[in-house]
Amino acid sequence: EQFDLSVYQTAYQFDVRPLVLTTLLTYLELEGVITATAPFYSAYKLQFLSSPDSIVARFNPQRAAFLQQLFATGRRGRIWVTITPEEASAQLGENRQRISKALNYLEEQGLIKLQVAGARQGYRLHAADRDSKALSEKMILLFQQRESRDIERLRQVCDWIETTGCYQQALLRYFGEELERPCGRCSACNVAEQGLFKPLQLPHRQSEKTDPAIIFAIVKTIRGENHQALIQSRQLARFLCGINSPQASRARLGRHPLFAALADSPFATVLDICNKPIENT
Ligand SMILES: [Zn+2]
Repeated sequence: EQFDLSVYQTAYQFDVRPLVLTTLLTYLELEGVITATAPFYSAYKLQFLSSPDSIVARFNPQRAAFLQQLFATGRRGRIWVTITPEEASAQLGENRQRISKALNYLEEQGLIKLQVAGARQGYRLHAADRDSKALSEKMILLFQQRESRDIERLRQVCDWIETTGCYQQALLRYFGEELERPCGRCSACNVAEQGLFKPLQLPHRQSEKTDPAIIFAIVKTIRGENHQALIQSRQLARFLCGINSPQASRARLGRHPLFAALADSPFATVLDICNKPIENT
């Protein structure tokens, strides 16, 4: 069974970043659920650089007839003719690849100017009868593991910055090597030599706005505005923490005065509060 999708449209529909969607598709490929086939464009816009008749006249009768029919399937604008391979393929009984190949060839020959629109990725779906509930649980787990791994890695970098000793020693330890003595060259070693050593401290992550009562008040205000792009708790938490998403950016919510209002509060805290029913606030 074959299907195709536009990564951007699908990402917008589910309000996730395109990268998240392509990661999910990769997981599904690794799981053997789908196989990617060739990407293709859902529409071609072409402009004739020679007259259609003179283009057709260059080819043998069989090919000329094919091109004539292909051009006839297009919608004519003032300058551009739009050809939809899907429709043309149904009308002509030719496969989509032959149609794209022909158009690309005409462009290479300098006979037409070609613009593509609507990139789509094709897939083959295997074993459509598999347990979709178990599969989605597995995918959720993979994403959760990935998220905690990323957060953990970030925490390690922060710890490294705040280390009280030689940076190089700590870095090598991370990669499983042992440096016997401090390197004597990094900034931590330098200040240590001068007897000035004071470990670096990152700015504190939590502001007074982390007070749940303040978060509740902000959540209540923004919920009251009924934004379509902020219906789910996760969408709302992202908005308040200043993380853009496809639907929020199309709704221009990045300019809203409360966008990133809680950027100093931990995402998990904000999400927790967004998850609570509004009556309890
Ligand atoms: Zn050092």
